[in-house]
Amino acid sequence: MKKNTANILSFVIATAISLALTACATSPEGRKQLTLLPDEQLNAMGIQSFEQIKQETPITENKNVENYVRCIANRIIPHVAENPNPAGWEVQVFESDQANAFALPGYKIGVYTGLLDYAKNQDQLAAVMGHEVAHVIARHGNERVSQQLATEAGLSVASVMLGGDQSSGTNQLILAGLGLGAQYGVILPFSRSHESEADLIGLELMAKAGFDPGESVQLWKNMATAGASPPEFMSTHPSSETRIKQLQERIPQAKPYFDAAVKQGKRAQCKL
Ligand SMILES: [Zn+2]
Repeated sequence: MKKNTANILSFVIATAISLALTACATSPEGRKQLTLLPDEQLNAMGIQSFEQIKQETPITENKNVENYVRCIANRIIPHVAENPNPAGWEVQVFESDQANAFALPGYKIGVYTGLLDYAKNQDQLAAVMGHEVAHVIARHGNERVSQQLATEAGLSVASVMLGGDQSSGTNQLILAGLGLGAQYGVILPFSRSHESEADLIGLELMAKAGFDPGESVQLWKNMATAGASPPEFMSTHPSSETRIKQLQERIPQAKPYFDAAVKQGKRAQCKL
């Protein structure tokens, strides 16, 4: 009996290890990642979460704002490498004082109107949207859910999740993994390494799309100087001297993409 239990246990451990080994990927910045779930599953989770948000949050009726945000998204999306679905992205602007934005696996982008108080021009808003899309490109959601599964939740939650159970605990885990935790009362920022990667990938993305990467620094300064009531975005994306310094160091690398876009007459012209 004991021997059987030990056998089962060693089988489970071996399976978990081999799963973990086969699920090792490399991020666009060259960092090793644990991604246990197939991308299709993450996409399905993202689509489901987006539908939920659309049911709970009013979509803006301000066509100018909607067109402005879509203009920026439409410029960024074609520059997403390995993008099998460039025409299939859904971009929604939610009417809310929240200063926040997000992108989800499954080709979804959401921007809250409150963000426009901090992202004061097309380049600054492109910095936020590029950063959010970069989290998706670098598969940070998959990595976060995988880390949770591997370290905290264990195989029992994995089986519940893979079985599609939608209990609130599982939902919270998925939402937190996708970076939406804060909106649902669980503040769980992306790790510093995820934030740095998203900043750097986002910078290149916005520059290629014809937005001035130098404005990213001003965006983060706007966020940081908000005072007593910092924008919601800050709870999952803390601004810091380090972040601003890293961006400043990387801007010279992104700038040539922007200069090339300008030279080709592709400077972004998204106006509110
Ligand atoms: Zn982020």
